[in-house]
Amino acid sequence: MTDTGSREIILTGINVSPGICIGKAYLVDIEGVDVVKKYFISEDDVQDEIKRFKSAVNKAKQQMLTIITNAPEELRDHTYILETHKTLLKDKMLYGRTIETIKNEKVNAEWALKKVVSDVKSMFKNMSDSYLKERATDIVYVSDRIMRNLVGAESEKIADIDKRVILVANDLSPAEASQINLERIKGFVTDRGGKTSHTSIIARTLEIPAVMGLGNATNIIKNDNLIIIDGTVGTVIIHPTEETLLEYGVRSAKYEELKAAITRDSYLQAETADGFQLKVMGNIELPEEVVSVIDYGGDGIGLYRTEFQYLSSPILPKEYELFDKYKDVVEVIAPKPVTIRTLDINGDKAFSNNPDYMEANPALGLRAIRYCLKNPDVFRTQLRAILRAAAFGNVRILIPMISSYEEVLETKRILDEVADALDKEGTLFNRNVELGIMIEVPSAVIIADILAGEVDFFSLGTNDLIQYSLAIDRGNRNVAHLYHSLHPAIIRMIKQLADVARNKGIKLFMCGEMASDPINLPILLGLGIDELSMNPQSIPAVKSMIRALKVEDARAFMKDVFKQNTASGVEELIRETYGSILFEKVYARRKAFGDRAQKNYYRKQKGQT
Ligand code: PEP
Ligand code: MG
Repeated sequence: MTDTGSREIILTGINVSPGICIGKAYLVDIEGVDVVKKYFISEDDVQDEIKRFKSAVNKAKQQMLTIITNAPEELRDHTYILETHKTLLKDKMLYGRTIETIKNEKVNAEWALKKVVSDVKSMFKNMSDSYLKERATDIVYVSDRIMRNLVGAESEKIADIDKRVILVANDLSPAEASQINLERIKGFVTDRGGKTSHTSIIARTLEIPAVMGLGNATNIIKNDNLIIIDGTVGTVIIHPTEETLLEYGVRSAKYEELKAAITRDSYLQAETADGFQLKVMGNIELPEEVVSVIDYGGDGIGLYRTEFQYLSSPILPKEYELFDKYKDVVEVIAPKPVTIRTLDINGDKAFSNNPDYMEANPALGLRAIRYCLKNPDVFRTQLRAILRAAAFGNVRILIPMISSYEEVLETKRILDEVADALDKEGTLFNRNVELGIMIEVPSAVIIADILAGEVDFFSLGTNDLIQYSLAIDRGNRNVAHLYHSLHPAIIRMIKQLADVARNKGIKLFMCGEMASDPINLPILLGLGIDELSMNPQSIPAVKSMIRALKVEDARAFMKDVFKQNTASGVEELIRETYGSILFEKVYARRKAFGDRAQKNYYRKQKGQT
C-alpha cells in the first residue's frame, strides 16, 4: 500500500478538525483569477459594464443557492455561513463600491472589483484579531466567485469527485467545503486558513479530519500520493511507512471508539470523580451557532462575540437589529445563561469610510472598551439592546479589554444611565444582569483586587492575556512557537486571580482557547476556575476529562506544577501524571502521553511487549 521508493515526510499545520484518515491525495485545482487586465470604458459603455457585473453577481447567487440546497444533511444547521456569503454578494462594501468604481473611474468590472477587494483587504489587515481577519477572507471568497464568473473561468466541482480521496487544496472556501460528499471525501488539507475560519467550522461539523495553514502542501503532495491526516495534532504524513500505517490504524480505531462514547455522554454533567461541578459553556460568534452549543451539551453561552454584526455592514447596526439577534439567542438557550460581550473592535477603522486610516499598533490601540468609551453613542445603543434582550432570559454582560479601574466605573455609569432612560421611556428591559469583565490585560490581573469590588465575575481571556503578557502577537506565525498557555507566568497569573476571586467572593470564568484543551484541565481545576467556555465542538471532550479527574488530586498536583520553570516542563509533567487519563478519556492523541509512555503503549498495541 505504501509508495515504494519515497521517503516519509511529515508536515505540520493547524489542527482544525480532529480525527485520523488515511487515503490517496486529490489535488483540487481551484485557483483565484490572478491576472486581471485594466482597461478604460467610455461613458456610453458604463451602464453595460455595470450590467455585466450585476449578471456575474446574480450568477454567483444562483451558484450559492444550488450549493445551499444540495448541502449535506449534517450542514443543515450551518448553512448560515453560506447564507452570509450570499448576502455579502450584495454587500455595499463590495457590490456598491464596485459599481461606484466602474462609474467614477470608467474602468472594466474586473479591475473595479479587484481594486475594491484590495481596499477591503488592507482595511482588515490592520486588525490583529484573527476572527476579524477571517471575516475579510469571507469577502475574498465571495469576490473570487464573482471574478470567475466575470472572466468565464470554470472551477472544479468538488461535488463531482467520484473517488474515495483526501482533498489537498491551496485554499477551500466554505462554499467549496460544503460540497464535500461524506461517502467520498475522507478529509482535507489546505495551504491557507486557520482554526477560526468558516471552512474549519464546516470540517468540524462534518466531523472529518482537517489540517489547514500548511503553507506549501500543494507543492509537496502529488495526486495519488498516499497520505495520513492527523487532524487532532495537525500533522500530515506523506509516503507513510508500513510501521506508521499500522500505528495510525490503531490510533484511528481507538479515536473513533472514544469519540462515539464521549459524544454519547455529552449531555451528562461535568462533575469530577469527587463531586465538584463545573459549568462547561460554548463560545459563539453568530446567533445560529447556539444550536451547536445545545447539541454538544453546553451549559449555556460563556462568550457571545458580537463583532460580526458591526463588520458585515458598512453602517452601524440599529438598536432593533442588535436586539432581535440577542433576543433570539437568549430565548433559544433560556434558562441557561448567555454572556454577551460588548463590542471588541480593533479601533474604529471597521466603520471608517477611509481605508487608509491605520494605527501603528492596533492591538494596543483604540480597541474594545476603549473604542466604546470614546464613542458612547455606539456603546449606549448596544447596552440598550442587551438590557432589552435580558427581559427574555438569563443574560450577563461582559466587558472586553479592561485595563484600569476608571474604565469599569465609567462603564457602570453608562450602564446605569441607559437603564434609567429605558425605565423612563417605559421600554421592557431587565436591569438585573450580572456584570463581568474580561481579564486579558496584565494590568487587570495586577489590580484584580481593586476591580473585584465592582463586578460580579471575571472571565479570563487567555488568547489576549498570553499575547499581552508574553509580548507575542497572536496572529504572527513567526513567534507562534513561543505562545504557550502553560507558561509559568500565565499559570501564576491565573492563581493570583483565583485567589482574589475566592477572597472577594466573585466567580472566575475562562473563555479563551486555553479552556478548550483537555491537557490544561488538571491545572484549571487545581487553581479553582468556576466555569469554562469554548468552541462548542470541544465541549464533549472537556466534560469527559473533567468527569475523570479529582479536584483534590488536582490541587495537590499544583505544588509540583509550581516547581517547573518552563512551559514544556509543565506540559511534560501533566503528560506523565495525567497521560493515561487523557488517552483513555479524551482521545488517542500522541501529545497525551510522555514520549516514553507513548512508545510503550503502541508497542503493546502491536503485541511487541
Ligand atoms: C480572549 O482574548 O481570550 C478572548 C476570548 O477574546 P477574543 O479571542 O475574542 O479576543
Ligand atoms: Mg480577547
